[in-house]
Amino acid sequence: MGLFAVVVPGLEGLVEDELKSLSAHDVVRIEGGVSFSGSMDAVCRINLRSRCITRILIRLAKFKALSFPELYNKCKKIPWEQYIPDGRSLRINATCHSSRLMHSGRVSQAIRDAMADRLSQHGVSIQDSDDNVQRIFIRIEHDQCLISIDSSGERLDRRGYRLHSGRAPIRETVAAGILQWMVWQPDTPLLLPMCGSGTFAIEAALIGQHRSAGLEHEFAFLHWPMLKPRRWQRVLDKASAMKKSPSLHIEASDIDPAILQQAVANAEKAGVADCISFSQQDIRLMHRQLELQRPGLIICNPPYGDRIKGDAPSLYKDIGTGLRKNFPGWRVAVIVPDKTCESSLGLPAVKRLKIKHGGKWVWVVQVSLP
Ligand code: SAH
Repeated sequence: MGLFAVVVPGLEGLVEDELKSLSAHDVVRIEGGVSFSGSMDAVCRINLRSRCITRILIRLAKFKALSFPELYNKCKKIPWEQYIPDGRSLRINATCHSSRLMHSGRVSQAIRDAMADRLSQHGVSIQDSDDNVQRIFIRIEHDQCLISIDSSGERLDRRGYRLHSGRAPIRETVAAGILQWMVWQPDTPLLLPMCGSGTFAIEAALIGQHRSAGLEHEFAFLHWPMLKPRRWQRVLDKASAMKKSPSLHIEASDIDPAILQQAVANAEKAGVADCISFSQQDIRLMHRQLELQRPGLIICNPPYGDRIKGDAPSLYKDIGTGLRKNFPGWRVAVIVPDKTCESSLGLPAVKRLKIKHGGKWVWVVQVSLP
């Protein structure tokens, strides 16, 4: 099957590597995501185990459509009964560019009609509700119509453990991606001195325990009549059997006691509270624990932009000074909103990753401390 991974802009390269490591075929990075191919087993396995993908679409059909009747007829040829069980609702998302058919509302309606008519021949009726929805994506460009079905359901970054979050929390997929980009190894000490709702710490603990990210997720494909439950069970059993309990050194801290409490609750919900040590602390006063023999990794996501009025550069300067003094030999990743904050940090960048976060581009800057 032709497949497409929707990803947060900036994570494409990491998703490309992740897909290859999950045995996807024909992996090609394109705008807004990564295309690949694989069997239904691969759809199940990658949904369950990917940490960086937002959702996975299956390409169902690609054809030329110059009129609404043509669109309707070609869409009706798709075997929808393999994907839509009785009683499911549809959410159809259509975009049209440089084409004869430019009215996305009418395009959606034509697709909905074709689906409903085909499904009713199979004794399946569709509902019209906001729950229990199957998403369908239509893209018409230069009269070429591409029809995809979502296999993931809720976005995969919604892992279900974040009961609470501070303002503008980092997405789970982005946190996991940054850990992967920094090549964090579970035997390396990890400090998260501005942990907020605990996303980095929890993602690291899940990675350290080889726990699949999607074990609690309600995937759209679980509703598909074509799913073979025994094969899905096999994928699940294999993923569950990978779980390990290594000893991890993950320290999460934050200056704000209320946020820290939320982080603890989130970690408990994720089932990893026992492998993270939480403490309230100002990053400016953070010191290396003496029992740590080896240098480790620090990831920090300071407040910036509208979360801190005007004073971000001075906070970045304090962070840079403190880290240089107290953590010689450690590796550090800091999220920076702009060049001013990066230069205030006063630490030489080894490499940068540009990611879209909360609608804005930010940079993750990797520095190493002499
Ligand atoms: N990654 C987090 C968001 C971090 S927001 C998430 O996903 O939720 C930045 C955090 O830095 C906030 O929680 C704030 O309380 C904390 N912070 C601000 N100044 C600090 C300081 N001087 N020392 C430690 N933490 C600080």
